[in-house]
Amino acid sequence: MRHRTLHAELGASGAISLPVLEVGSAGPLVVITGNIHGDEATGIVACHRLAAALHGNMGHGRVVMLPSLNPAGLAQMVRVVPMDGADLNRVFPGSVTGTATQRLAARIWQELVRLSPAAVIDLHADSALSIPYVIADRPVDLPVDERIGLEARVLEMAVATGITVVHEYPDDEYRRYALDRSLAGAVVNRLRRPAVTIEAGGRRLIDAAAVDTMVYAVAGVLAWLGVATVPRGSPPARVAGGPWRRANAIRSREAGVLVPLVSPGARFEAGEVIGEVRTVAGEVRERLTARESGMVIAWADTAWVAAGGGVATIAVAEHSGRSGAGG
Ligand SMILES: [Zn+2]
Repeated sequence: MRHRTLHAELGASGAISLPVLEVGSAGPLVVITGNIHGDEATGIVACHRLAAALHGNMGHGRVVMLPSLNPAGLAQMVRVVPMDGADLNRVFPGSVTGTATQRLAARIWQELVRLSPAAVIDLHADSALSIPYVIADRPVDLPVDERIGLEARVLEMAVATGITVVHEYPDDEYRRYALDRSLAGAVVNRLRRPAVTIEAGGRRLIDAAAVDTMVYAVAGVLAWLGVATVPRGSPPARVAGGPWRRANAIRSREAGVLVPLVSPGARFEAGEVIGEVRTVAGEVRERLTARESGMVIAWADTAWVAAGGGVATIAVAEHSGRSGAGG
C-alpha cells in the first residue's frame, strides 16, 4: 500500500489535502472514491477495509482509493462543501477559476483524467432506513451507438456488485438534476468509462453491517475486472424483480410525524398506502399513496416532515411511465 496526498488549491478558501491509497502496479486501474458528501462516511471505512484486504489478493491491475473527497464536510457532518455550501457531486468537471467547490472538483477531475481509470466506483450512504443499492448512470451525452455499448458495460459492472441495481432517473430528469455532472455521471459521459455509485448505510455514522455490504459490492466489481479477488463474506439481501429505476421522491402535502408503513426493499402496488403523516395526537393528516407499483429504496432520515418535504426515495420498473408515486 502506497500513501500520498492530492493537494487542492481552493482560492480564497485556502487549500485542502485528500489522502490517496494505492495498491498494485500494471494492468487496468480502478479508482474508488468516498465521502464526496461529507455526512456519508460508510465508504471511508470500506476503503480502510479494502486497503487491508487487497494485500496479497491482487490480480492483474491497480486500485487507487480516495477515502474522502470532502474532508471539510466530514468534519462538520454536512453533505456540501462547507466553504461555499455547494454539492460537490453536481459540478464536475469543475473549474480551476471558479468557486471553492468548482476548484475542488477540477482538481479531482484533473487527477481522474491523468489516471485514466478503466472503471470508477463512488461510495455513498443514503439513510438509516434504506436498502443497499448500486446506481447505474446514463450516458446521455454519447452518440446512440456508443451509448448502447457503454450502457451495457455500466450495467454489467453494477450487476457485478451483487446488490440491488437501480438505474438513474430517465434522461430528461437525469439532465435536469445535473446528474451528468455527478462524479460517476461525468466519468460515464466525459471520460466514457464505466462508473457506478454504491449506496450503503445511513448518514452521519459508521454501520459495520453497511461497511460489510459495501466491501462485498466493491469486491464483486474488482473480481469482475480481474483486478483483485478479495474475500467477500455473505451476500446481502437483494430486492427481486427489476430492472428498477429511480423515480421522483414521494412528497407530503402536510407537515407532521412521518410514519413509514412498508420497509425499505418491500414492494408495493399502485394505490397502496405506504406511509402516513400524523399529528402528535395521532390523527392521520395524510396517507402517502403509491401512484404506481414499485419499492421503497429509502425513507427520509426524519421523524418530522415539513409540508412539501420529500419522505421517501422509490424505484419503479425501468420501463414504466414517468409519474413515480406521490402523496
Ligand atoms: Zn451521497
